[in-house]
Amino acid sequence: MRVGVLALQGDFREHLNALTQCGVQGVEVRTPAELEKVDALIIPGGESTTIVSLAKTFEVFEPIKRRIASGMPTYGSCAGMIMLADHIVAAKDGQETFGGIDITVRRNAFGRQVDSFEAEVLAPEISASPICAIFIRAPWVEKVGQDVQVLASIEGSDGQSHVVAVRQGHLLATAFHPEITDDYSVHRYFLEKVCR
Ligand code: GLN
Repeated sequence: MRVGVLALQGDFREHLNALTQCGVQGVEVRTPAELEKVDALIIPGGESTTIVSLAKTFEVFEPIKRRIASGMPTYGSCAGMIMLADHIVAAKDGQETFGGIDITVRRNAFGRQVDSFEAEVLAPEISASPICAIFIRAPWVEKVGQDVQVLASIEGSDGQSHVVAVRQGHLLATAFHPEITDDYSVHRYFLEKVCR
């Protein structure tokens, strides 16, 4: 299984490192030809609006969208979660996504209270121990479709519980960045459970 990391913008190097730590040699994907060579894809954290415009410039936007729709295992963290969502609130005018997961995400949802924070997230499906999760201007999931499995939620400073990790079949998304910690359980879960 060849795992690609979309390497247009954002923390793709950290995802490549996380893959290495899991014993997998990831490959950078920027072009349609590079996309064709991979069986699975990771979309990094960064800035979703920039990822969309660079993906269009590199002519990889539609090819990725098609691969996702036709079953390529894909994991997105933070901006990557936004890219996998079917719907966005607080989107930039006309902001497009690859889509695939039947969720509505709110961009920068945690951002108004605190730009960045660390939390322990319970996600028993992914790991028996709490996951060390870093949130940076992170989205949360506001609406979840019938076929979406909620993997983790945390309490926001509004006292409400918010969904921060989901799976829909071959697609996995987290609002946080496991790639910038040394907890590789989300990557392992993606490789061992979602990609199989
Ligand atoms: N706020 C960013 C966006 O809307 C995501 C932030 C991140 O990936 N850390 O794309």
